[in-house]
Amino acid sequence: MRFHRLLLALAILTAATSLAQQPSIDPAIAREIDSIPAIDNHAHPMLSPPADATDREFDALPVDSMAPQTDPIALRPDWPPLHDAWLALFNIDLQPPLTPDTQKQLDAARGRVKAREGGHYSTFVLDKSGIATMVANRVAMGTGVEPPRFLWVPYEDALLFPLNNAAMAAQTPDRTQFYALEDKLRARYLQDAGLTKPPATLDDYINKVVLPTLRRQHEHGAIAAKFELAYLRTLAISNPTEAAAEAIYSKYIDTNTSPDPATYKPLQDYLFRTVALECGRLGMAVHFHSMAGAGSYFSIAGGNPMNMEPLFNDPAMRHTNFVMLHGGWPFVHETGALLQKPNVYLDISQQALVIPAATLATWLREWLELFPDKVLFATDGYPYSDYLGWEESTWLAARNARNALGIALTGMERDGEITPVRASRLAHMVLHDNAAALYNFK
Ligand SMILES: [Zn+2]
Repeated sequence: MRFHRLLLALAILTAATSLAQQPSIDPAIAREIDSIPAIDNHAHPMLSPPADATDREFDALPVDSMAPQTDPIALRPDWPPLHDAWLALFNIDLQPPLTPDTQKQLDAARGRVKAREGGHYSTFVLDKSGIATMVANRVAMGTGVEPPRFLWVPYEDALLFPLNNAAMAAQTPDRTQFYALEDKLRARYLQDAGLTKPPATLDDYINKVVLPTLRRQHEHGAIAAKFELAYLRTLAISNPTEAAAEAIYSKYIDTNTSPDPATYKPLQDYLFRTVALECGRLGMAVHFHSMAGAGSYFSIAGGNPMNMEPLFNDPAMRHTNFVMLHGGWPFVHETGALLQKPNVYLDISQQALVIPAATLATWLREWLELFPDKVLFATDGYPYSDYLGWEESTWLAARNARNALGIALTGMERDGEITPVRASRLAHMVLHDNAAALYNFK
């Protein structure tokens, strides 16, 4: 009896041990994934020294001055993986959270690497993160953030709000800041078009400001146009007539009074569609923010990518490719379903930083089982704070994304859905080939 109990206990112990030791990622798949130089579909790299010191063009709407929110774990100063990024990038062994003293040590270590790498500092971060090409979402490019390693995606939201934006800005404390920034960027686009204020008619505004801005960006290498629209209003885009849009434009441009948001919306929708159509004509994709946050006032319901479905279903839009940045979390099943539209894609930026690999792998697997040619690797590397710079967030998101991809592909292979050859093929597609096909890279 006692012997049987011992055998049973041994059997349970063995089973438990082998389960615990069962790697969640097949080593062959992990090796393959690690060997693929990636295209990062979306991030906000900062310029290399010496331009880095004053660089504020990494975002049209920098999120470092918003009203307080409850930060996800991955953005907090005590997040354990920070240690690995600091060690890998700056060769310094520090434990989060940093004290004033260890923060100084990190700053010094970062400074040493910047001094060593100089103008190559930004590409050094890519090399450390296994990224061959980073799609750089910036207001403008600059020192060290240049082709061929960095490709440009500028911001277009400012073009959608040519009127007095006081009523839009009054909606939340965050939007008060955002619209002031959009007004500034639109002034810059007007200046680039040789104007000091918007023209009197919508037709002139489109032909002298909107279309020339896009064409100039395209000539300067832009491969896509980015919208942070979900921070500014709902993603629902209606299909108003030109006459309806013109009536709103001419009425309010003349008096410089601020239309209420509902009155203003058809003009914004008309301008969005104008930009999206021109992007299709120029061969630029349309990127839009599609994830909850950042910020405590962000409208999660308004940012649901399902709001874009009528736009996606408009035959006139089928020559424009749309990319749902950040994969639409928490609406991850909805974004998966939207991939059946031939011109709709998603990336895993931002999710790759804040959602641990095992969890991210569950819906990544679902997407790969249905529409594997529409899923793009991305980090959303971003200068969040002194302890989580664009360098750390890029490196950590790249590692976590590769782990999530490894878990998803290993699960599919073990369940007999795919062969090892197909697993390798899918890894190349997500990390590189899907983006290369979308942007027509040679
Ligand atoms: Zn971003």
